[in-house]
Amino acid sequence: SGKSRPMRILQYVQRTAVQGDANSVISAVDSYCANVEWAMNVGDMKGEILDAVVLDVRPRWVLELGTYCGYSTMRIARFLPPGARLVTLEMNHHYAQVAKQILGHAGVDAQVDLLVGTSSALIPQLKKKFDLDKFDLVFIDHWKTSYLPDTKLLEECGLLASGTVLLADNVTCPGAPDYLQYVRNSPRYKSLYFPSQLEYLQVEDGMEKSIFLG
Ligand code: SAM
Ligand code: MG
Repeated sequence: SGKSRPMRILQYVQRTAVQGDANSVISAVDSYCANVEWAMNVGDMKGEILDAVVLDVRPRWVLELGTYCGYSTMRIARFLPPGARLVTLEMNHHYAQVAKQILGHAGVDAQVDLLVGTSSALIPQLKKKFDLDKFDLVFIDHWKTSYLPDTKLLEECGLLASGTVLLADNVTCPGAPDYLQYVRNSPRYKSLYFPSQLEYLQVEDGMEKSIFLG
């Protein structure tokens, strides 16, 4: 068996999931992490909130902060309209290598750009690199103390525009209190909490959806 949890998740996917079938790969990761080893994917329950937001926003450009094994990346990518792109940032090289293989197995890699590096270094490069106007949706799910500084960095870099939706995971567990205080009190955001449970556990957690008003 693999020497890291992401490797073991990948091997389980390769053994059990249908190649080119994102739903099959998502289910395989969920059953492995619910039954064998917990992992920090958004999971099936909060995943449904994420799915609904993607389907509602119908984004042309999506940014994800924190790829890990590519679980949420697959959930988002499978619902992207044709021509849309998902840029996902991961600072851990080993996780990024695993994610590339999982996204390939799921057949969603064509619409995904996985960049390896820290969000604070990569965010300032995105506008030029992709000739971007703005992101329509940002899924925030990296280390919790980075939610607020990276949101302010996205604002400074001109990557948010009126109507951009930020969806932040784990705002209750482990929690991102400074981020919540900011989006809930700033006149530049309209913010709403979606109660749920932590991935694969019966522990309270939730996601915060915040619309940037410009
Ligand atoms: N979004 C993934 C999912 O639901 O399947 C889970 C992401 S996991 C909770 C957080 C990931 O963010 C870790 O893989 C970690 O290495 C990465 N990370 C943490 N801080 C980062 C940063 N500043 N820049 C880039 N990646 C970061
Ligand atoms: Mg999370």
